[in-house]
Amino acid sequence: MATVSRRDFLNKGAKIVAAGSAGLLAACGTEKTGEAPAVHTRKTFRWKMVTTWQPHFPVMGEGADRAAKWIEEMSEGRLKIDVYGGGELVPALQAFDAVTQGVAQMSHGASYYWAGKIPAAQFFSAVPFGMNAQQMNAWLYFGGGLKLWEEIYADFQLIPMPGGNTGVQMGGWFNKEIRSVDDLKGLKMRIPGLGGKVIAKAGGSAILSAGGEIFTNLERGVIDATEWIGPYHDYLMGFHKIAKYYYYPGWHEPGTVLEFAVNKRAFEELPKDLQEIVRTAAYRSNVMMLSEFEAKNNVYLQKLRETGKVALKRFPEEVLNAFRRYSQEVIDELVEGDPLSRKVYESFSKFRKEVGGWAEISEKVYYNLIGGME
Ligand code: CA
Repeated sequence: MATVSRRDFLNKGAKIVAAGSAGLLAACGTEKTGEAPAVHTRKTFRWKMVTTWQPHFPVMGEGADRAAKWIEEMSEGRLKIDVYGGGELVPALQAFDAVTQGVAQMSHGASYYWAGKIPAAQFFSAVPFGMNAQQMNAWLYFGGGLKLWEEIYADFQLIPMPGGNTGVQMGGWFNKEIRSVDDLKGLKMRIPGLGGKVIAKAGGSAILSAGGEIFTNLERGVIDATEWIGPYHDYLMGFHKIAKYYYYPGWHEPGTVLEFAVNKRAFEELPKDLQEIVRTAAYRSNVMMLSEFEAKNNVYLQKLRETGKVALKRFPEEVLNAFRRYSQEVIDELVEGDPLSRKVYESFSKFRKEVGGWAEISEKVYYNLIGGME
């Protein structure tokens, strides 16, 4: 995808915004095209996968395309999946409902998009000052996290599967320097979810903009700052052309988990081996997307440095401390009003504390140790 231009990247976004909800009418269940009922193993299935991404969006959209290809190859054509970008079959943020209703059999996105419906779902993607990618995987696969996630999604006829991770994101692009908490007052920043609530507590305002509008809004001063993902995607968006300061770390998204959600009934209709193939493709996607982000963020951070125009800055300690304090308040308020969020947060925070004790004498020490290596 090195050839993706900012124009292509944004045009894809614009199409999605333009696409309406007509796609919902195209409802269609699992298609079985096998003609010999006695030979169960050769029965073929055709699924639709809807995503929250622009079609073929670097890493995530391409990752969904790749997962469908792997499933088709591993199943020797018995399970074929047509992948739709956001707006192509249903609008991006209706992916969850589309799979619940069986309009599609599978989706790829991130669970914090469904916070309005299930506030507790946010803990399965990213929360400010939460766990990194490695720790999230540990919690999900071995710490009871995925089990809780499955319980919650079962009410919506869905089976969730971790399906990618962004790694630690960047703090965002700013047109003024953030020297103290006072500089956040009145700041208009595009930052979604719980991170946005933290900015509001700090005296700023969280503005929502669709992906395709962020560049123009920042350029025209409609917003003063925006977060996006990390060096690779941010470079493709072209933010370095219109914002001076690139802040780190992404305290608000320390290891965002991406998800596949599969319609339960469609999944149960599959023979065992195809079920395992779907699960295997999800595991594979989980590793591949994180690895791609890690490799390309590194390359594109260097490109950003080479422009000579980007001031790479760490948020001051005072500001990070304020973000941490406000994040705890935001989470306390969330769990206060929602028993399900409380239940998930108890598991999440217990694991974070324990695994943090291990990280203290492993990753943290090791990173400091190799700092000066050639
Ligand atoms: Ca982000």
